[in-house]
Amino acid sequence: MLFILRNDSSTLMEKIKESSASYKFLDLYGKKLALVWPDEEAEKINDDSIEMKVKTRKPYILASNEWKKEPTKVNVKDVEIGGEKIVVAAGPCAVESEEQVETVAKAVKRAGASLLRGGAFKPRTSPYSFQGLGEGGLKILRKVSDEVGLPIVTEIMDARDLPLFKQYDIDMLQIGARNAQNFTLLKEVGKFGKPVLLKRGMANTVEEWLQSAEYLLSEGNGNVVLCERGIRTFEKATRFTLDIGGMVAAKMMTHLPMCADPSHPAGKRELVHSLALASVAAGADMLIIEVHPNPEKALSDSEQQLTPESFEVLMNRIKALANALGRSA
Ligand code: PEP
Ligand code: MN
Repeated sequence: MLFILRNDSSTLMEKIKESSASYKFLDLYGKKLALVWPDEEAEKINDDSIEMKVKTRKPYILASNEWKKEPTKVNVKDVEIGGEKIVVAAGPCAVESEEQVETVAKAVKRAGASLLRGGAFKPRTSPYSFQGLGEGGLKILRKVSDEVGLPIVTEIMDARDLPLFKQYDIDMLQIGARNAQNFTLLKEVGKFGKPVLLKRGMANTVEEWLQSAEYLLSEGNGNVVLCERGIRTFEKATRFTLDIGGMVAAKMMTHLPMCADPSHPAGKRELVHSLALASVAAGADMLIIEVHPNPEKALSDSEQQLTPESFEVLMNRIKALANALGRSA
């Protein structure tokens, strides 16, 4: 159960401690909160400092819009995600060289992207595939980001790398689909405090995805953007099945902003425009799109990356659609 508090209270703390309930106090979205469980114990606790008790049958509470009706806006430096403007992050699947990132960053910025994506730590299915440049990749991202003026979003695979993410002052941390239920990583990234792009696990239900978000929120980090990136189904015509329905349903269950990744479910660049536009039509607040200066030569996800020229065409289509929907891009 969630207690929304008026003020700090030592008597409430004492009462909770005397009970057999588990608890956690936290500050989130400018509110003082106490999570107290199980519900049977929480129900018995009363104190003047409690403004409201929120009980839910859902397995997540902080991520739900039952207590926080207004949509959350996440700021990555000066980029606001969850407002009327649809934010586009673009860049290569993996950081390969400074020249590659610089070329693509300038091109996507010119076309209208607001964030630069690119993986330094790559979760590859085969240990023999390109694993990313690691620290060298973060260094390149930081340098190009400062030069071009686009904040960075990049994946963290291992909590042991957090000091590097701090050192290179990474603006937004991506939790990849394969780590969406790596609960120790989620907790550590929650404590780290920087904005997070949380991908949906490829075999996770919407409810499980929101519980992963709950791990971040319950560490006091409310700057979370959910990202639908396709789930595993029997269908082989696409790499993954972009779950537009799941994305819409999730949006109705949470206050967190929603991102869609059209590149990974597409698997082929020919499909990326349509999946991106469908996501915008379905209400995505953000898109993350893979763009490479020479996709054929890419060291990872070569078939799904757009050329900068194709990305520019797509951006113009996204802007037109956003306008038709009363938004901007
Ligand atoms: C990526 O964004 O490059 C990536 C690996 O994404 P996902 O975790 O969704 O597969
Ligand atoms: Mn990729």
